[in-house]
Amino acid sequence: MWYIIICPHCNLLQTVRANQKYHKCFKCEKTLTLDYSKIKIIYKSNNIKDVNYALQRLKELQARRELSF
Ligand SMILES: [Zn+2]
Repeated sequence: MWYIIICPHCNLLQTVRANQKYHKCFKCEKTLTLDYSKIKIIYKSNNIKDVNYALQRLKELQARRELSF
């Protein structure tokens, strides 16, 4: 399972594996504790192609400021 999350420090959308406990943000390089009571899962799927497609769409929406969290 893959999740799309948004970094609470820099708002970067990114993909993580569901079984990861920690994830280092690609942009701000902060280590995120993947506690899903605190970090919102935007999208989840077992299919990495679906996840990559959703990530592109979400990034487009975010760029147009049509997505807010
Ligand atoms: Zn970040």
